Amino acid sequence: MLRANYNWSLADRIDTYYQRYICGDYCDLRTKVIITPLTCLLGGATGNPWSNKGKKRSPVNIQITELPNLKQARPWYDEIDSTVLQQNLRRLDKAYNNFFQQKKGFPKFKNKSKYRSFTYATGVKIKGNKIYLPKLGWVKFYNSRPMPDGFKIKSVTVRKKSNGYYISVRIEDKSVPTFPVKNLEEITTVTGLDMGLGKLIYCSDYSAIDNPRFATNKTTKRLHKIRQRRVSRKKKRSNNRQKVGRRLSRFQHRIAVKRESYQWQTAKKIVSKSDGIAVEDLQISNMIKRCKPKYDQNTGRFLKNGQSAKRALNRLIADASWYSLTQKIEYMAAKSGKIVLRVNPRHTSQECSVCHHIDPDNREGEKFLCTNCGHVDDANFQASINIKNKAINHYSLNIVKKFSQKVRRDLPEPKQLNLFQTPTVELTTGKRKYHYASNGKRNEPGNLKEYAFQLSLFNQENNHPDRDSL
Ligand SMILES: [Zn+2]
Repeated sequence: MLRANYNWSLADRIDTYYQRYICGDYCDLRTKVIITPLTCLLGGATGNPWSNKGKKRSPVNIQITELPNLKQARPWYDEIDSTVLQQNLRRLDKAYNNFFQQKKGFPKFKNKSKYRSFTYATGVKIKGNKIYLPKLGWVKFYNSRPMPDGFKIKSVTVRKKSNGYYISVRIEDKSVPTFPVKNLEEITTVTGLDMGLGKLIYCSDYSAIDNPRFATNKTTKRLHKIRQRRVSRKKKRSNNRQKVGRRLSRFQHRIAVKRESYQWQTAKKIVSKSDGIAVEDLQISNMIKRCKPKYDQNTGRFLKNGQSAKRALNRLIADASWYSLTQKIEYMAAKSGKIVLRVNPRHTSQECSVCHHIDPDNREGEKFLCTNCGHVDDANFQASINIKNKAINHYSLNIVKKFSQKVRRDLPEPKQLNLFQTPTVELTTGKRKYHYASNGKRNEPGNLKEYAFQLSLFNQENNHPDRDSL
């Protein structure tokens, strides 16, 4: 019923728009309201565009005030809670706003599989493991989180997922202070993050977070393929197809849940690192675009365009889901009063962090070697440091500079034996481990066998008894 209402309201808006667009000045036969370009609003809806106080109504409000009339015409709407119907119209309005303001797609008519949730504004009560949904009554549910005291329920959304129904409750307590947010001047430490595929995140402090590849690891990929094939082999519109289809979506849901939980944990870890977190402002939807088709000019046939190779990469990027991860980092940061700084991703992987020389040749796979100053580093960590530096410059932050603790990689020189020096116990103990033989006896360190062999190399005969075994 809600879906029908949604689709009807959408059609109503579209009709109104076209009528206005064509005539400009006319009288609507259904509602007998004069609609002119002056009175009709963008997005339009049939109904009285003027409120009783003489103010202009927005398209949603027109449709909401028309609801009682619509209910009279359709008595079966009595079974739906009135706030749910209103929220349904607000959803449509949100879709319109997304279209006009955020340049998203035009609102679509929804089919059965696309319409999965509805929202209550008021009237919901929670008691222990039972929830009261108006017009549905008391429903038993698993209460995953107790309601904190003093909070008021603002809205409740019931959502159908592949393994059951979920309820999310939005609560508010005005006496609780909002989280304090740091100013840009207060930031003293910044961590740069470079999102990758080998590791999920490369931090500028040379730590990295693993990429578990929940959907694209070998086992899951294979299982997914099998389950998908089972669906596609079944007869269309058959019960069997539905059954295996549901099984597939449960499988996908499980992967999504795992990823979500991992991302929350990661976000928490990242946010605890520093006051500011610098990330690249990536356009991920552009990154996973398909390759353009190539044609043969003479025959008009399609040529290979590299899409089959890119598909695997696209799937990896989609599995890493950097966007939702940054969203979670942003959320956690806001909760602890920290700031996420977005940075232009241009040249972050090609710039040298020491001399700021930009050259695409600097990077070769994982390796980074500056063609100007010879600085050597891991390319991913290099990128994260660049992101950090960019954030510091762009937002002009006062960072407390720490002296980098450089660890000498080269070890002290190993003790070398002269060719004819007899190895002593003092030289060999501590270097060699005891090896226990199967009979429980151990080989004593300072065993001269090996050295004896080395020395014997210089003998002309080469007749050491243990030579082959060594
Ligand atoms: Zn350099």
